[in-house]
Amino acid sequence: MSRAILHLDLDAFYASVEILDRPELRGKPVIVAGSERRGVVTAASYEARKFGVRSAMPAATAKRLCPQGVFLPNRFSRYKEASDEVFAIYRRFTPIVEPLSIDEAFLDVTGCERLFGSAEEAARKIKEAVRRETGLIVSAGVASNKFLAKIASDLGKPDGLVVVPPGEEQAFLDPLPVGKLWGVGKVTEGALSRMGIRTIGDLRRVPRDRMVRSFGAHGEHLHALSRGIDDRPVETQREAKSIGHEETYDRDLRDRGTMRRELLSLSDRVSERLRRHGVKGRTVTLKVKYHDFVLVTRAITLAYPTDDGGTIYRCALDLLTETEAGPRPVRLLGISVSKLTGAEELPPEGRMEQIALFGRPGTDPKPAPAAQDPGKKERLNRAVDRIREKFGPRGIVPGALPDDEDPGT
Ligand SMILES: [Mg+2]
Repeated sequence: MSRAILHLDLDAFYASVEILDRPELRGKPVIVAGSERRGVVTAASYEARKFGVRSAMPAATAKRLCPQGVFLPNRFSRYKEASDEVFAIYRRFTPIVEPLSIDEAFLDVTGCERLFGSAEEAARKIKEAVRRETGLIVSAGVASNKFLAKIASDLGKPDGLVVVPPGEEQAFLDPLPVGKLWGVGKVTEGALSRMGIRTIGDLRRVPRDRMVRSFGAHGEHLHALSRGIDDRPVETQREAKSIGHEETYDRDLRDRGTMRRELLSLSDRVSERLRRHGVKGRTVTLKVKYHDFVLVTRAITLAYPTDDGGTIYRCALDLLTETEAGPRPVRLLGISVSKLTGAEELPPEGRMEQIALFGRPGTDPKPAPAAQDPGKKERLNRAVDRIREKFGPRGIVPGALPDDEDPGT
């Protein structure tokens, strides 16, 4: 059955919230940025965009392009509040809501026709409800999959509603530039252009084998996207979310020792947030922004989910060595943890820790999982920490615990 997917994206979100709270700013070039000197533009009203101001641009550049702009600092808690209101409206239409960021979401409205009419009708009703109840404007894309819906919402901005009717996916995609495809950045775009590929239609006509030869697995993926194929489901919050923290520094960091200290404090904050949300994650991602605003991310996926600050810190240290941080000064560091699982859904960890600690092949019912578990060391450390917390440093004497817990006795 054909699916009905909506991509909803609030227009110039932070700037729109600021204008909502201060109506006298309406019609003015409003630019939200961390600080005018060192910050990065996080949102620009459409009036500001006329001057060439864009998100992620250094605030100093924005200031040069649009000196008359109204520069405002970020008020993240206020944006979060507005976002929560909007997402609550989405959830009245379907429980299958996947937040992509504070202002973007996918909704799966397949089978909602009897309640809300066609997918297009649902999109229209959501747009009206958001405008009426929050004063914000959301652009919508409606299509049979996520990737098409996202392209569609972008094409209609601002205040857009673009529908890709089932069966017309190819006609919709073909004329668009290849840069619209997910995963086509400047580098891939350049390589494709040298092959004479400029539109998605051009790409579709390249034999699949040739794409694979030139780009490997990525080429195969692009080939599928060019034909409008994207089977990924809309994933609800827990599956899609990540928890992280980042810091922009007033002065660029130049030595690794300082960076390591910063990573330790970031790891602590992230682990505390994970515990507060009652979740653990398997993928640890380090984000490094160099002094020249070039952003790189490096990630590790663990065999088992963690919420432990020490584990996250060790991953981040490993990842740091895969960057040019140090030789290249750093203005921002961030750590996030994704592939989240509710803590309650985890395998019985205590059992595995015990096996890993005292492993007695003759009596352990399941020695294999522990032996194959690359996250063993991290969890071992945590087990030791916990036991020491409870019983003091002497609590961790081999032989002291197994008798209590061993099901064989
Ligand atoms: Mg947006």
